[in-house]
Amino acid sequence: MSVEGKTAVITGSNSGIGLGVAKELARLGANVVLNSFTDTDEDHKLAEQIAMETGATARYIQADMSDPDACRALIEKAGQVDILVNNAGIQHVAAIPEFPVDKWNQIIAINLSSAFHTTAAALPVMRAAGWGRVVNIASAHGLTASPFKSAYVAAKHGVVGLTKVTALETAEEPITANAICPGYVLTPLVEAQIPDTMKKYDMDRDTVVRDVLLDRQPSKEFATVEQIGGTVAFLASDAAAQITGTTISVDGGWTAL
Ligand code: NAD
Repeated sequence: MSVEGKTAVITGSNSGIGLGVAKELARLGANVVLNSFTDTDEDHKLAEQIAMETGATARYIQADMSDPDACRALIEKAGQVDILVNNAGIQHVAAIPEFPVDKWNQIIAINLSSAFHTTAAALPVMRAAGWGRVVNIASAHGLTASPFKSAYVAAKHGVVGLTKVTALETAEEPITANAICPGYVLTPLVEAQIPDTMKKYDMDRDTVVRDVLLDRQPSKEFATVEQIGGTVAFLASDAAAQITGTTISVDGGWTAL
């Protein structure tokens, strides 16, 4: 069994990894539900474009993943959800004593609690259908830490823990739950950090990429959104039916160090 004909809900998917995963799953024949907190013409056009290019059904549903009720409403509005990809996430960088409390709360809500709420709403739907896949986009920071990223690292470690509990609660059913732990992926979010870092360290772009961004990524290459999409598709395939409660690193060797 492949993802063909399955319905995938991908949170935070009007940009970056989420959008890449949605495109890859649609290319492989899944119907996709895109999401973010905005509700613009461009958001809906992204879904139309995916549908046009792949022949899959693609919808955009607005829902703010910092709001528990909205997380649950997203699943309800989607109707069917065979593959749930919890991807929405934000970052803030500051030392612990200076870390703004509102940023801490927002990161925990969007990067961690949203996955709990969507999973809680999706599991009964998956059980009724007799099949399901939960794929949480964690991070290399779900397995290791960096200074100044307290909320992000705590949330991503939490996502890995939530993944394990989801797997245990569904272990005897045809439902799996796993986390993907990407290293650096060249998304608009990461691309936007390059000019400032060039200025800060007086470095050219290649040096910033190699010595700052990819410092901890031994391959010295970014992972791609297509590779993350392919990993989601693998986790949704029959070959992965006994893979549950684990993490798959897509990090060029970061966590091997
Ligand atoms: P991105 O900023 O391009 O995408 C984040 C997505 O989340 C966007 O679609 C954004 O609209 C959405 N989002 C933000 N706040 C939201 C909210 N309140 N409600 C709904 N949607 C919201 O960043 P990305 O790099 O594609 O990151 C996607 C995920 O991958 C995140 O969870 C991130 O932590 C994780 N990740 C990224 C990298 C990387 O190097 N880019 C590495 C490891 C993990």
